[in-house]
Amino acid sequence: IDFKKASFKDFENIPGWDAFQTADEFQRYLNFLRENGHLNYRIESLSPVGPEMQLRLPGKTSATNAICLVSNDYLGFSQHPKIKEAVIKSIREFGTGSGASPAIGGHFSYHQELEARIAAFYRRQDAILYTTGYTANSASLQCLLHPEDIAILDMAVHASVYEGCLNTNTKQFIHNNLEHLEQILKLSKDKYRTKFVIVDGVYSQDGDIAILDEIASLTHQYGGYLVVDDAHGIGVVGETGRGVIEMFNLFDQVDIITGTFSKALGNIGGYVIAKAEVVYYLKYQSKQHLFSTTATPAIGGIIRAIELIDEEPQWKASLWDNITYLKSGLISLGFDVGTTASAVIPVKIGEIAKTLEAGNLLLKAGVYANPIMYPAVSRKNARIRMNVMATHTKAHLDKVLNAFADIDLKLNLTSK
Ligand code: PMP
Repeated sequence: IDFKKASFKDFENIPGWDAFQTADEFQRYLNFLRENGHLNYRIESLSPVGPEMQLRLPGKTSATNAICLVSNDYLGFSQHPKIKEAVIKSIREFGTGSGASPAIGGHFSYHQELEARIAAFYRRQDAILYTTGYTANSASLQCLLHPEDIAILDMAVHASVYEGCLNTNTKQFIHNNLEHLEQILKLSKDKYRTKFVIVDGVYSQDGDIAILDEIASLTHQYGGYLVVDDAHGIGVVGETGRGVIEMFNLFDQVDIITGTFSKALGNIGGYVIAKAEVVYYLKYQSKQHLFSTTATPAIGGIIRAIELIDEEPQWKASLWDNITYLKSGLISLGFDVGTTASAVIPVKIGEIAKTLEAGNLLLKAGVYANPIMYPAVSRKNARIRMNVMATHTKAHLDKVLNAFADIDLKLNLTSK
């Protein structure tokens, strides 16, 4: 493997090599990246999630301060005193672990209440919890879809959706392209038993939004069910933070809603919301729910976080102030931020090497933002991705904008 051109994906399955030989080769690749200063994943944070963080950079012993643009804690709820109190209270009452899977003793009143609260948040009756948002997607889809069925995916959906569809037929449509979706729906019409159209509400790499009203009507016109993962939409978009489903007022049009508590709600865990019978089917048939221990009592904090989305709308307002400020600042510097309409802001660069270099220079300037490249995005679409938080100040964002202006001088990233 040519390390200079390689990506992580090239090491997934090297023909003729066993798992341990593959791991050895991958280690050589990681060393190559590290020696070239390009291994900025798994940076150790020494302080809590927040607009500023203390990091221990690879190979360094001392800490570095940086403005954090890598956290999905959009509303700052992982640090909210009222939510921390709720977590502490639920741990005092129920302890640190749940002790069993939900079917056989690990279903407590905080799980029961959280299922009801997240369902009610989306004006539905019932929900099922999983221990992560990733599992909510992969496990529920794996349970519902079979080889006689088809999943029609927006090509930009999250990896967890792809994993959930490994046992069924899949077709991908060009991102947000209604003509292509309709073409596939037409071709699939009488060929498959169940047809799922699966999209994200807010897309995790571009921050743009599904054209959900038209996707919903096309899906239903051709007899399909619509599945929406709104992991990055909840708490962030929609008049009252009910995500893309609220933006389009499609509360009764989305057949399955999936999402996560790990982003705007500041905790961990995933959920699937659907009509009661489907939720019950999952509760008794989905392996990852049946055979895996439920989330810890700390999820008591999520119930408080759901309340605070309504009680303290100032966090969402401040998040949007910051989004607008950073986005318009980047645009006036000449950067391409694509079609984002959420708290995910990409700065599109294109080449992988330039993007890695930009990430390094930003970090040196005290700005922590992730370089994103293949396979998370297509090969020529590398970018720096930023996540804005309600708790950033204008001074933080000014420092970020100055750093971008500086790296543009060094790397020539804009047409200016
Ligand atoms: N869906 C999307 C669109 C995501 O971006 C992510 C997480 N990065 C997930 C699902 C998985 O959520 P979690 O991190 O809570 O497992």
